[in-house]
Amino acid sequence: MSKIQMTTPIVEMDGDEMTRILWRMIKDDLLLPYIDLKTDYYDLGLEHRNETDDQVTVDSANATKKYKVAVKCATITPNAARVKEYDLKEMWKSPNGTIRAILDGTVFRAPIVVKGIEPCVKNWKKPITIARHAYGDVYKGTEMKIPGPGKAELVYTAPDGTETRELIHNFDGAGIIQGMHNINASIESFARSCFSYALDTKQDLWFATKDTISKKYDHTFKDIFQEIFDAEYKNLFDEAGIEYFYTLIDDAVARVMKSEGGYIWACKNYDGDVMSDMVSSAFGSLAMMTSVLVSPEGFYEYEAAHGTVQRHYYKHLKGEETSTNSVATIFAWSGALRKRGELDGNQELMDFADRLEKATIGTIEEGYMTKDLAMITTLPEVHVLNSEGFIKAIAERL
Ligand code: NAD
Repeated sequence: MSKIQMTTPIVEMDGDEMTRILWRMIKDDLLLPYIDLKTDYYDLGLEHRNETDDQVTVDSANATKKYKVAVKCATITPNAARVKEYDLKEMWKSPNGTIRAILDGTVFRAPIVVKGIEPCVKNWKKPITIARHAYGDVYKGTEMKIPGPGKAELVYTAPDGTETRELIHNFDGAGIIQGMHNINASIESFARSCFSYALDTKQDLWFATKDTISKKYDHTFKDIFQEIFDAEYKNLFDEAGIEYFYTLIDDAVARVMKSEGGYIWACKNYDGDVMSDMVSSAFGSLAMMTSVLVSPEGFYEYEAAHGTVQRHYYKHLKGEETSTNSVATIFAWSGALRKRGELDGNQELMDFADRLEKATIGTIEEGYMTKDLAMITTLPEVHVLNSEGFIKAIAERL
């Protein structure tokens, strides 16, 4: 059998711990036998990030600008314990944060839906993709405890020194205040990423804020989305037969619960933080969530939404058997290969991505799965496989 050829490489970002082990198995058993795989490889494993003073993370993000498509393995974000464990020169920043800052994108998270792993919300039949605006609001807020009576104001000072003031509150006693911000450019690129991704995946886009209460702050989000939609996307949405739908956040939550899924839900930073955890736990498992960073310029970075599964890695190091779910990491690869195929007009590569996903879902639906899924499945007959056994079972179907 001749292997599928690639014309342009994918940027490959290797990672840490158990997901690094899975990464190797996925390549060996599911990709390399079928594809003449071309990648531009960057080792984002913590040791190598430390050796290169984290330059490798920056290089991998810049390579993504060059090749447009990347696939990333989960990586450790160091904390004090990791600094000790890996004898780090510094507490290096989160690679995802560094990459996102360079590519300026929006993260879209979507569950992988399979028969036998049923969402808690019975009417959810199709995935709900959450797009979270990852800049500003309460995450870059400034807060103050007000000790007692006094006046709190918002003050803006223009470059020429003119001041604009708004009263926050005349305090009679102790209290609290908070100042937060966003910038139009960031909201604009968030909007463009959402509209582009909706077109890309042929799904409706929902967006919601609390603009009735927040008449300037939230209303600006609503206005920017609407202006960009009308000027740049309305015709494209009509042609694709999809819709942009704006509503109040409370109405959106009510509608989401009653919907059957199958759309993208764009969320402000805090809403996205909270709602993505609700959606992923309601769909069954963090190990079944994919994640893709889409930049407004059209760069794509695919990954699993989960971390490095540290606990399983320590078992693996002790020589014990693990049953780690590789589905989201496999879908990161299939997502990247499909996108590479689309951009290069490589139909064979796109078909392979479809087959890989079908084989993965088919394996689970026939009752062959890892332990985390076995614990929640509604299928009557279940075979629990170890990490490698599950990947081999997919390879057989492939
Ligand atoms: P984790 O996602 O690795 O694990 C959280 C829980 O979910 C654990 O109980 C784990 O057993 C379970 N789990 C997650 N994925 C699973 C899978 N594929 N199969 C079976 N069970 C699975 O998160 P954590 O334990 O909080 O973090 C571990 C490391 O991962 C940390 O160093 C953190 O910095 C890193 N992390 C990286 C990313 C990323 O690269 N995108 C995201 C989150 C965490």
